[in-house]
Amino acid sequence: MVLTTISESRHGAEDSTLHSTFASRYVRTSLPRFRMPDQEISKEAAYQIISDELMLDGNPRLNLASFVTTWMEPECDKLILASLNKNYIDMDEYPVTTELQDRCVNMIARLFNAPLKDGEQAVGAGTVGSSEAIMLAGLAFKRKWQNKRKAEGKPYDKPNIVTGANAQVCWEKFARYFEVELKDVKLRDGYYVMDPEKAVELVDENTICVCAILGSTYNGEFEDVKRLNELLEEKNKETGWNTPIHVDAASGGFVAPFLYPELEWDFRLSCVRSINVSGHKYGLVYAGIGWVIWKSRLDLPEELIFHVNYLGTDQPTFTLNFSKGASQIIAQYYQLMRLGFEGYKSIMENCWSNAKILRDGILETGRFDILSKDVGVPVVAFSLKDKSQHDEYEIAEHLRRYGWTVPAYTMAPDAQHVTLLRVVIREDFSCTLAERLVRDIRRVLEYLDARPPKLIEAVSAALTEKEPAMKKGADPQLLRSSSVFDKTLNSTRAFNVWKKHSLHKTNGVC
Ligand SMILES: *Cc1c(COP(=O)(O)O)cnc(C)c1O
Repeated sequence: MVLTTISESRHGAEDSTLHSTFASRYVRTSLPRFRMPDQEISKEAAYQIISDELMLDGNPRLNLASFVTTWMEPECDKLILASLNKNYIDMDEYPVTTELQDRCVNMIARLFNAPLKDGEQAVGAGTVGSSEAIMLAGLAFKRKWQNKRKAEGKPYDKPNIVTGANAQVCWEKFARYFEVELKDVKLRDGYYVMDPEKAVELVDENTICVCAILGSTYNGEFEDVKRLNELLEEKNKETGWNTPIHVDAASGGFVAPFLYPELEWDFRLSCVRSINVSGHKYGLVYAGIGWVIWKSRLDLPEELIFHVNYLGTDQPTFTLNFSKGASQIIAQYYQLMRLGFEGYKSIMENCWSNAKILRDGILETGRFDILSKDVGVPVVAFSLKDKSQHDEYEIAEHLRRYGWTVPAYTMAPDAQHVTLLRVVIREDFSCTLAERLVRDIRRVLEYLDARPPKLIEAVSAALTEKEPAMKKGADPQLLRSSSVFDKTLNSTRAFNVWKKHSLHKTNGVC
């Protein structure tokens, strides 16, 4: 659901209808924009009008802001198209799709080292994405904690959750929607993930779980889940609270098992009770699929499970939605089966080698610090060394002219004074594109170097308005001597700060 407001200024009276040059062959009258048209139009005209308008969307392949898959093999596209009309929830009608989902859950649970015997069924669910997966995992923790507190005769009305301030926005959503207090460990200069020591300090008897992130959205860095587990084990021994860990592996869950099999972040660790992963990120499926896996049946309270009768047998379900398309599940099964462990591994290695080409090219300009790590999800996050003349927002803005969408945003508290640019390396980002991007970043730098700093430009423009005697682009010395200079400079600065903060979290962190 998108909540839309129609503002008069953007869509004035003459703007409230749609015109289309091509469709005028079929349609003579214009169509209302915000009201259902009275009459039908031909399918050709409808197609033409909509596809013309969609041309103005960005090119998904050049959208370097997003982790979400933008390319799949044509064979899989074919399977997706063929299953567009299947509703996943009709398990009775589509038993094969249901079976494919169960196979995916089992494969992913074993990839995350769930302690399962041969032939034992894993516990998990397919979801719309990691956000739904996190709501479900969070609900399970909340309910388990409440049940325990009730049994002990203790109050159970003040649950809290501990995360890093770098947690993705869906954790805030979970906290607000399901009435759990969110306690976040603040970041600091040079350390942009949750500090395990500080996280465990925040844990109290009301903590339903600590959430660790495998692949921070800000810079792709993995949090130290093993250290967190050690510290929490100790605290649990002292207090008897048994506080569990959830790992938000939305982006890293399909990276770490292939590239860093020795890294212990998953069900090998005693306190890790559930993990989510986005099938539509490095799971390599188009938008609309995520997974949540529990370590064992005991971690998912029975009262949250609903039972659907499926071919005379009982099919347990745990989701927030009812109906949804089946094609994403089929596509995930395609990828797991088609690529296998080796296939995923070589794609992830490839992504990392392209990330390194990009990182080295950016370093070679001599103008940026790299804020991403060499171990993590294949992301290059970088920030300008010298921001006195131009900032990261201007670079992002100018890269758009070459067709690139590279987001600029600020770090989470308390490192919000750090601004960065982030490029996510997906499978379809080739090394040729990496080289071209470096070339275009250089061009943008050259262009900006030859221009006056944006702030002076904005002040000069504002001054010209206020004091018509001043010409735009006037001598900076003359500008500075003006009485309104400081006032204008301050309000321009305030505007820039406001802009940066208001764009925060909606800009690129996805
Ligand atoms: C992308 C992301 C999410 C949200 O995942 P969706 O699949 O888009 O719902 C949550 N947490 C992290 C760390 C992410 O990177």
